[in-house]
Amino acid sequence: MSESLGPIGAALDLYRAQREGPTGIDRRRQLRLGELVEYARERSPYYRRLYRGLPSGVSDPHLIPWVSKRDLMADFDDWVTDPALTLSGVRDFVSDPHRVGRPYLGRYYPITTSGSTGEPALIIHDSHSWLMLALLGRLRMAARFERRELLAIGERGVRMAALFATGGHYGGEVFAAKVVHEHPWLASRIRILSVLEPTGKLVEKLNLFQPATLAGYPSALALMAAEQAAGRLRISPVLARTAGENLTDEIRSRITSGLGCRVIDSYASSEAPALGTECQYHWQHINTDWYVFEPVEADYSPTPPGKLSATVLVTNLANRVQPFIRYDLGDRIIVKPDPCPCGSPFPAVRVMGRSTNLLGFVAADGAEVQVIPLALGSVIEHVPGLHRFQAIRTGSSSLRLRIQTEPDADTAVVFMEARSRLSAYLEAQGAAAVRIDLDPEPPRPDPGSGKFHEVWSETGTEPKH
Ligand SMILES: [Zn+2]
Repeated sequence: MSESLGPIGAALDLYRAQREGPTGIDRRRQLRLGELVEYARERSPYYRRLYRGLPSGVSDPHLIPWVSKRDLMADFDDWVTDPALTLSGVRDFVSDPHRVGRPYLGRYYPITTSGSTGEPALIIHDSHSWLMLALLGRLRMAARFERRELLAIGERGVRMAALFATGGHYGGEVFAAKVVHEHPWLASRIRILSVLEPTGKLVEKLNLFQPATLAGYPSALALMAAEQAAGRLRISPVLARTAGENLTDEIRSRITSGLGCRVIDSYASSEAPALGTECQYHWQHINTDWYVFEPVEADYSPTPPGKLSATVLVTNLANRVQPFIRYDLGDRIIVKPDPCPCGSPFPAVRVMGRSTNLLGFVAADGAEVQVIPLALGSVIEHVPGLHRFQAIRTGSSSLRLRIQTEPDADTAVVFMEARSRLSAYLEAQGAAAVRIDLDPEPPRPDPGSGKFHEVWSETGTEPKH
């Protein structure tokens, strides 16, 4: 059984899967899916009910019903496969931020996900899931490091600063805290910094710590790159690693030029923490030996390569305590239709943003026009004098802009330019006269999650898929 491999066996298997190519990868995925489905059916009352009509020995995912976060969370106690886990018990545990990185029931490290992009959820990984996260992260990510980067990291030793939201049992924070808890000798070499702290404080701490690698949300690293460019931050990281938000070309180039190092992005979510690693051509290669990854249309039929999906169904084959099987992740993605020039045997995708974040505006004929937040943001991010911005959809024909200008720029001038570009863009999309107002508030991270969203809707009228 795949779960009994142990760390060395599992690491070797990752190499073998990659070497064997698509045939070896597909064989492992099918075997693991069959095992997980049987396990869930035996141990999870939720799946036992859901799979009542499903024949045994299923390895074709299309035969298996899909599940949503809302349904799973509503049935949490029946969903998990360890009866000692209960929603009220986990909720009580995560209510104390000081317990981050400490085990619950002696073996679990619960993660909370932000409620700002969808339904809030509590995620539990078992020890095998954590092991595969560590192995996939280290082995397939390390293969992306250049020789000079490995040498430079070797010279300076492990010295990682991670800029994440803290205080709420969020994914990045729990992972880093768990590593430190289990390997106390790393405590002085890993710094978890909160993106909710004032920028000046972060700069001060980073100057003191001098990280060899810097990890965090793209928006947080872009902010640090700006501090470095302004001369306040003085660090020389070998590599920057991002996850948790869309990394746009614009943000990537800001981080690279500001911090003077490459950026490697990971495709991760709390439910599927080692989904993909980015190649040098900036495609995310999905680890399909440990994840079933199915881009689908709004009616859950398969989306062909090259076409933007409505959402994606993900199965985490490494986690048995809380099985995510054909789980609606909510990301809109495009699968690269032709082989990636990097030569990876794993499918290449681009993530286009969360479907729940799609912005609906009313058209002249009363129909709804949908806008991808990423696209809307890219329309204004190059406005001269604009440093940071947030665009908030406040209604079906209104938007509010928060802007932070460069020191020598005039807020009114920058706003008028941003408004005129946005209006032209929205009109081109077919939206009828959208009112755009200036918000007197400066841009700031979400007070709940600490993530910095550039574009979102504050009213709940956007479509589910
Ligand atoms: Zn590639």
